[in-house]
Amino acid sequence: MINTTDTTPKGDELFKNIISHCKEYGYIFPSSEIYDGLSAVYDYGQYGAELKKNIRDYWWKSMVQRHENIVGIDSAIFMHPTVWKASGHVDAFSDPLIDNKDSKKRYRADVLIEDAMAKIDAKIQKEVDKAKGRFGESFDEQQYRNTNPRVMEYQTKIDAIEARFKAALEANDLAEVKQIIVDLEIVCPVSGSRNWTDVRQFNLMFSTRMGSVSDDSDLIYLRPETAQGIFVNFLNVQKSGRMKIPFGIAQTGKAFRNEIVARQFIFRMREFEQMEMQYFVRPGEEMQWYNYWKEERMKWHRTLGFADSKHRFHDHLKLAHYANAACDIEYEFPFGFKELEGIHSRTDFDLKKHEEFSGKKLQYFDPELNENYTPYVVETSIGLDRMFLAILSNAYHEEKLEDGSDRVVLRLPDFLAPIKATVMPLVKKEGLPEKAREIMDVLTWDFNCQYDEKDSIGKRYRRQDAIGTPFCITVDHQTLEDNTVTIRYRDTMLQDRISADKISGIITEKVKLKKQE
Ligand code: ATP
Repeated sequence: MINTTDTTPKGDELFKNIISHCKEYGYIFPSSEIYDGLSAVYDYGQYGAELKKNIRDYWWKSMVQRHENIVGIDSAIFMHPTVWKASGHVDAFSDPLIDNKDSKKRYRADVLIEDAMAKIDAKIQKEVDKAKGRFGESFDEQQYRNTNPRVMEYQTKIDAIEARFKAALEANDLAEVKQIIVDLEIVCPVSGSRNWTDVRQFNLMFSTRMGSVSDDSDLIYLRPETAQGIFVNFLNVQKSGRMKIPFGIAQTGKAFRNEIVARQFIFRMREFEQMEMQYFVRPGEEMQWYNYWKEERMKWHRTLGFADSKHRFHDHLKLAHYANAACDIEYEFPFGFKELEGIHSRTDFDLKKHEEFSGKKLQYFDPELNENYTPYVVETSIGLDRMFLAILSNAYHEEKLEDGSDRVVLRLPDFLAPIKATVMPLVKKEGLPEKAREIMDVLTWDFNCQYDEKDSIGKRYRRQDAIGTPFCITVDHQTLEDNTVTIRYRDTMLQDRISADKISGIITEKVKLKKQE
């Protein structure tokens, strides 16, 4: 292992560096950039598209193909407009917004309050970290949190805000939500003032018109979630697939939300992609399955090589109109812990509503119980783009090497890396490019590979580190004599000399999905 010092910054600076890295290395570009971009819309470049596809495929493999009783569908983005009346989105899919009169900036009122609570929580964490340093090995964090007067005072403050905020949300009391913002003395980060408008609700659905006549009857919506495409196909899939409860229907696809505040790169976009699974269960068994999927999904995240401390559960303060239990899996992004995935026990709300609005029965005959019922549903819903950002922020490292030079490396899990191997002739002459292409030609049957002959070998290695390519294969003069190459590993930067015939086997072993579980 070659010694390196990790020089990766933290927080805002890390986030800024990740965003510019994404642009410089073909991962993510602002949409319509030559026209100055489109707010909260992004395009995935040549490597971003590959990484995104690999994450989507991995989710599909583990949720659909590795479960006998889960199948996948691909429903249309456009749906009958009544779907969104039945689901409650027309009436209730809104966020509370508030404007600062001086900066004219718009904020989500709930996010302002949550951020204020997070700031107090950060103070607690600071105290805890300090004490940890003082007490060393013998430190009992829980006891410290329960007994230190300053920490207890902060915690009481957080609990009080949380209780008040929860009550306001449950009563849909927007005046009280504003009063909390006033009482907490929250200032606009742009103008620095507390000159707020009243809080009001804002519907997040995009609408458009279908067909050539324009009157209200053609108004349709761009789906704000993929879940409804699953509910309306519940019986089609159950009957055609002879599915027995419990069973799941999964799909991945685009969703659209006219987000009020969308300033966090691909964390909150107006067009994004979801990976959702609805699990249909017997009424009364939903809590058991809800707990099952909570654990399963957390396990899925942890097998991707994240430190355990990077994820946590967060129970919802206010349950959505359709849920009887709900939590988020939060990830520690460079800007703090935020929702990455939601797990919701949706009861029979959606199927019942679609029965009511369509007039069609959406029931299941349970042969073991010999009765008909409307199944309950447990949902797992993750944003593909947020997962992409979580993986990328964990992989991104800046390092200083022994010789004083720097490198940026994406330590992506090998099986997710956009390019698995890059084949490089040491020099651009003397038959080496031809030999390198011959090797490359064999490898491309199995992996996404790249050929690179430009610049010094050192520069080429740096370029591949920055893209996150786990293996570099160098063809030199010895290769022409004995058919051996060097294979260089991204993370350790060590090299082995191996027979060219072995390359495929070595890489296959490392990128096998089977190995990830
Ligand atoms: P938030 O509270 O952050 O607005 P949400 O609770 O509205 O999210 P859900 O409706 O539960 O989100 O959607 C499921 C998942 O879809 C989220 O966990 C997230 O990963 C993803 N997601 C939701 N909205 C966006 C968005 N605007 N951009 C990117 N991903 C999103």
